Amino acid sequence: MSRVLIVEDEEHLAAGLRFNLEAEGYDAVVAGSGEDAIEKLLAANRFDLVVLDVMLPGIDGFEVVKRLREAGNYMPVLLLTARGQAEDVLRGLSAGADDYLPKPFDLEILVARIQGLLRRKEWARKQESEGQAEPAEYAFGDNRLDFQRQLIARNGAEQPLTLMELNLLRHFIRNEGKNVSRKALLEEVWGVREDTDTRAIDNFVVRLRRYIEDDPAKPKHLLTVRGVGYRFVAEPADSLE
Ligand code: CA
Repeated sequence: MSRVLIVEDEEHLAAGLRFNLEAEGYDAVVAGSGEDAIEKLLAANRFDLVVLDVMLPGIDGFEVVKRLREAGNYMPVLLLTARGQAEDVLRGLSAGADDYLPKPFDLEILVARIQGLLRRKEWARKQESEGQAEPAEYAFGDNRLDFQRQLIARNGAEQPLTLMELNLLRHFIRNEGKNVSRKALLEEVWGVREDTDTRAIDNFVVRLRRYIEDDPAKPKHLLTVRGVGYRFVAEPADSLE
């Protein structure tokens, strides 16, 4: 049974979410504040996923996800944002959230998003056990991307990735050598079709460059294509000489 932590200070809403997630077969626990959430999440690896409201008294949702990632915890985080707040989405994804849902939402949509995030996790695990389809690793330049362990090994160090960072990198790799537009990335990686601010993508690219480039200011693998988006190049021409 998957265990979900619900972080929401409005008791009525939190209780309703817990009731409904339990009815869907999840083991659900409520944290009423950001501090409570961090304590529960860092105490033990008891949860498979976090549903995290942005608006919390004290430490807000952005700070919770940021601290979680800083502590080396890369579990899937679904952020609940205020509708129409594009800035919240950008901030949340930059802080390390995997997905978001604007409030108020339909319960079926929340459950579908949760299932989607857990499925991606399960899918990676299943592929690992069956040893099929996607290669376990992908090497480019000084980097070795480990899909199952969800990290990049580079110069003897390992950088863990969030699910979204991994999915974005996977998409770039599948389109190696081709121009990829920001809009296509939003649609195909995030599944976002409404008018979302494409700066979310730029934030992620800045982070990925810090992980994979010798000089993030002069990228050789993850190139900006002016007026279009990005292009991933596995082996830059000058490294072949
Ligand atoms: Ca709240």
